[in-house]
Amino acid sequence: MPSSVTPSSVTPSSDTPAGDAATRAGGGDAPPEVRKESGQREVFCGLTSIVWLHRRMPDAFFLVVGSRTCAHLIQSAAGVMIFAEPRFGTAILGERDLAGLADANEELDRLVRDLLERRPEIRTLFLVGSCPSEVIKLDLARAAERLTQQMAGRVRVLNYTGSGIETTFTQGEDQALMALLPHLPASDEEQLLIVGTLADAVEDRFTTLFERMGLPRVRSLPPRRSTDLPPIGKGTRLLLAQPFLSATARALAHRGGQLITSPYPFGVEGSRLWMEAAAASFNLDPAAVAGVLDPLVERGRRAIEPHRQVLRGKRLFLMPDSQMEIPLARFLARECGMELVEVGVPYLDRQLMAAEQALLPAGTPLSEGQDVERQLDRVRAERPDLVVCGLGLANPLEAEGLATKWSIELVFSPIHGCDQAGELAELFARPLRRRELISFA
Ligand code: SF4
Repeated sequence: MPSSVTPSSVTPSSDTPAGDAATRAGGGDAPPEVRKESGQREVFCGLTSIVWLHRRMPDAFFLVVGSRTCAHLIQSAAGVMIFAEPRFGTAILGERDLAGLADANEELDRLVRDLLERRPEIRTLFLVGSCPSEVIKLDLARAAERLTQQMAGRVRVLNYTGSGIETTFTQGEDQALMALLPHLPASDEEQLLIVGTLADAVEDRFTTLFERMGLPRVRSLPPRRSTDLPPIGKGTRLLLAQPFLSATARALAHRGGQLITSPYPFGVEGSRLWMEAAAASFNLDPAAVAGVLDPLVERGRRAIEPHRQVLRGKRLFLMPDSQMEIPLARFLARECGMELVEVGVPYLDRQLMAAEQALLPAGTPLSEGQDVERQLDRVRAERPDLVVCGLGLANPLEAEGLATKWSIELVFSPIHGCDQAGELAELFARPLRRRELISFA
């Protein structure tokens, strides 16, 4: 189990070669080559995704089965979100559980029954696995089945892992959606399914825009109510709103859904291509689509402009964290004029990232995985104008005189769509502006 908490430092279980094949990537037709690294990582584990998932589905509860470390992590990541009626918590495995002296299953059943008695509004309970529950091989899948039966249809109990051994940060959402998947009803009706958590207002906006283009049936996964699961089948076109949903995308395709290939809806360009790809897959009239999108694009570009003035020509280094790094780098390079020093990703799904990589400036250095000390050596050697990184690295780098942007904000802020492009650019311009203000004070 990792010893540090926020962010947790874990050594990956994969045996990715620690090769140091520094290569150039991106742009053009040739498949990009990528620097692969493994070693000490400074990333969150998948438990963190509970922080945005519980907001998305207010009728669900996320019960982590783990240690005090896990409880501390969630509480720290949730920050000020301390609720009178929290929708997440931790069943803390005590020493007797870990030593195998107590029947952890019995204790878990009792705890779940108590929780559901006190909180009758809960419709779906996620038992979320952690490093300790995995190490002692607590069978949470079986526990979920057993508890669902005991609840006699009143509550659905599901299970997935958010452990640092198995998942990095946003992969927690991928795992949570995978847990919902077997419960999606089958239907071959034509529909567009947006996959990945969006802020409610952003989702409403996309739905309205698609309706105006002539596409009436748009659904989302995850839904706003955990019991309101969208159907899946041959008539479903899958449009990924987030780039980190590899397992979910493949499982949905396995159930008949057709994946729409597109860049992700970050920035004006990405959002336009994303909506156009969906419209094309339903053969919507391109003139009607352009009629909806043109004014949005125009407005979005104007909103970006003041931030572009700050960002243009600045050198950017992205440390691996959320798998959103490549789409964000593409947006910052192409629409804000930034120069990419290195784009790090925790994992690279070449299929889901192909459309994005094709838009990266030729020769963009990409890296997959992490050996944090080596990566920091490169940061120090390059002295970029802005480093996008996790909380654990941000303040130490600031102390070394480097401007940083906390990557976690990018998963908590509404950043999708043409309407949000200005705010997205502002998130990166802000630390540079602040530095300027402080140095002139
Ligand atoms: S799941 Fe693992 S990495 Fe995450 S907080 Fe718990 S012990 Fe740490």
